[in-house]
Amino acid sequence: MAAWTLQEADQEFIAREVEPFLPDRIFDAHVHLFCQSHYAPAVPPAYLHGNPERIGLEAYRHYIDWIHPGGRTVGALCFGLTFTGDRDGNNTFVAAEVAAAPRPEMVALGQLVIPPEQDPEQIREMVRRDGYVGLKCYHTMAKIEGPTWNAPIEDYLPEEHVRIAHEEGLSITLHMVRDRALADPVNQATIRRYCERYPNMRLILAHAARGFNPWHTIEGIASLSGLNNVWFDTSAVTEAGAFEAIVETFGHERLLYGTDFPISHMRGRCVAIGDSFHWFYAEDMNLDEKHIALRPVLIGLESLRSIRLAARRLKLSDQQVEDIFYNNAARLFSLNGSR
Ligand SMILES: [Zn+2]
Repeated sequence: MAAWTLQEADQEFIAREVEPFLPDRIFDAHVHLFCQSHYAPAVPPAYLHGNPERIGLEAYRHYIDWIHPGGRTVGALCFGLTFTGDRDGNNTFVAAEVAAAPRPEMVALGQLVIPPEQDPEQIREMVRRDGYVGLKCYHTMAKIEGPTWNAPIEDYLPEEHVRIAHEEGLSITLHMVRDRALADPVNQATIRRYCERYPNMRLILAHAARGFNPWHTIEGIASLSGLNNVWFDTSAVTEAGAFEAIVETFGHERLLYGTDFPISHMRGRCVAIGDSFHWFYAEDMNLDEKHIALRPVLIGLESLRSIRLAARRLKLSDQQVEDIFYNNAARLFSLNGSR
């Protein structure tokens, strides 16, 4: 895949679909910061070739301004990306980048990437020492036989880690897996149990509860209703249905805007196909196949348009849209001294 670029199609899309909708202040609740060398001994994935070696806060702010023009990104929840590479190096990098953020112009918060076998007391120590506000788990770190895509949540987010989050008042960003995501009763039961037993832990279900196929979130969302400590981020979701289901069930206050940077800067789109979903990337498309040339745009822009569609269909007010893009996160992380 090619290096990130901002093309004419993106700029036209921004002028037409994004600028008229985008609030002035943005908190991005899903940002990956890392250096390409953190992948060692493995090599960085192809989608990073030709991009900077060091993707810290400064690079993030530069590139995110492509999709949120005008310096309106004023906050970010950041975590590493090299889950199976030099994870410790990546965590340390995130902590340093976040600590050096130019406040008050930019407020950055960090989450600690933790493998399931990490000693819980060590997590507590690291969080206190390096100032992380939360934790980030990921299924590829699960120590199980067979594909981790089928792992139950406990295999990559053990209860002891949730207890630490509860005791320390931490957020946890969870990208759940298993084919049907939130429509899967095994996932539903664990989320409900963790949230009820550990009310001071704040759970952020990434990718609209991994609603890449919106029907999974639509079907499963009611199973979580009544929980007071669950949020959802919008990151890398390019269809509107899951956002609508979340807002209808939980209110717009639980939806947090996020980009999944650098995924936001790949070109393509994710769509529901049958009971599954598929990522289409510009590199794999025949752009001149039909009577009209395809002009794919950045995933981050597709996602913004999907949020816009949901907001329109739900008749959200400007204030409610501003909440999704900033105030909900500010409240969750007490950015204005309130919670
Ligand atoms: Zn992500």
